Amino acid sequence: MQAFPSLTIRADALIPRGSFAESQAAFLSPEPALVSRLGSWLSAHSVGIVAHFYMDPELQGVLAACDRRHVHISDSLLMADSAVAMAEAGLRAIVVLGVDFMAENVRAMLDVAGHAGVPVYRVAAEPIGCSLAEAARSPAYQAYLAKAAATPRSLHVIYINTSLDVKARAHATVPTITCTSSNVVRTVLQAFAQVPDIHVWFGPDTYMGQNLAELFRGVGALDDTLARGLHPAHTAQTLRSALERFHHFEQGSCVVHHMFGEQVVARVERDYSDSFVTAHFEVPGEMFRLALAAERVGRGVVGSTSNILEFINERVRDRAKNRTGGTLRFILGTEAGMITSIVRGVQRTLAETSATDLEAEIVFPVASEAVARTDDPELGIVPGVAGGEGCTTAGGCATCPFMKMNSLDALFDLFAEFDRGASDLARFHPRLYAERFKDRSIAELGGEPILHMRSLGRSGVLSDPLVQQVLLR
Ligand code: SF4
Repeated sequence: MQAFPSLTIRADALIPRGSFAESQAAFLSPEPALVSRLGSWLSAHSVGIVAHFYMDPELQGVLAACDRRHVHISDSLLMADSAVAMAEAGLRAIVVLGVDFMAENVRAMLDVAGHAGVPVYRVAAEPIGCSLAEAARSPAYQAYLAKAAATPRSLHVIYINTSLDVKARAHATVPTITCTSSNVVRTVLQAFAQVPDIHVWFGPDTYMGQNLAELFRGVGALDDTLARGLHPAHTAQTLRSALERFHHFEQGSCVVHHMFGEQVVARVERDYSDSFVTAHFEVPGEMFRLALAAERVGRGVVGSTSNILEFINERVRDRAKNRTGGTLRFILGTEAGMITSIVRGVQRTLAETSATDLEAEIVFPVASEAVARTDDPELGIVPGVAGGEGCTTAGGCATCPFMKMNSLDALFDLFAEFDRGASDLARFHPRLYAERFKDRSIAELGGEPILHMRSLGRSGVLSDPLVQQVLLR
């Protein structure tokens, strides 16, 4: 069986293995003319771009080469912070490269920070969806929330990957706080530590909910030291008790992370046992268990895109300091678009430490079936299965079809609309929710769970108003 594609990163070179990696690598050295065109336009119009790590590699290659004053690439939590910082630095408009809930979050946080006059644009006039965000609109999710609402002392922890109106309606039904993959453990365990007998209802990501339960169960069966490592106020016993009141939704998943299934894991275990294993919290249980076991012995990480990036950079830095050289191999258990930021980070570390004899190989666990045969004798095969998304249930293509709606062409098309003074640029704005709910606007009500998350991030505890709402139920 063929090896998974991979990209080996050296201080001054990239070595792709397999056609998938070749296509990822090709865009890491963008055309200077494109970089200059993008940078000049942003500067001339005083516009900033906040982009998610999962952007198309061609687009991300150009973005990453631009001036950081105008372009910031990060996870979804930092995208809104960066947009606010750009507005405060005087930029006059923000383009969001991501999916629609990200643009809505950026809009909500700019409004809260007093920058309602700074317009936000997406690069598509049509919706840019997300399978997780859609799951939270389903009747099954409404039933899940109704059950939470009927249970005393309930707190709904909603994943940030949901639209603003869903957050608003949920918050009107059950007290709700937003979380991201980097703060979900802290959020759930803080709720259990702070409010006696609380019930926590997590959603809509089913794998993340199952992985959290498995994490708490595993640590709860072990010792207090591990429990305190998750949250200082917890012991093994309190985790076991919390599990009885921890609920998760059963019908929501990310179409990309869903692909890191049993067959991929079996191949990683068989052929890549010497590798570090990284996995996003949204992966199925098999991949989660593999990465968690690796994390416990310092050979892996489970968490957010930022956690994965930090882990790879730290391992490379540690090895560079030891001056032992060689190859560090990492399984990339998340969307392949991360590669641009990983390459930048690793090459920076290798340059700073003058580690010319050290390299990092990033392995994409892509199914060999993620190509389709064509009738064209010239082409033979093309990337992607016949179904169209380039993914198979045998293992992932690991690229998000929604994120990939943000192309370089779409970005330049948006700029062209600006330049010709189009009167209908409003079609690129994040969706505006005119309706009111329980006498409050959707923006106000849907922004509140995000503000509760921000308050927790600043103070380390759930805010008093949120706790009061939970206790009054
Ligand atoms: S990778 Fe795509 S489908 Fe998955 S959560 Fe992100 S935006 Fe949604």
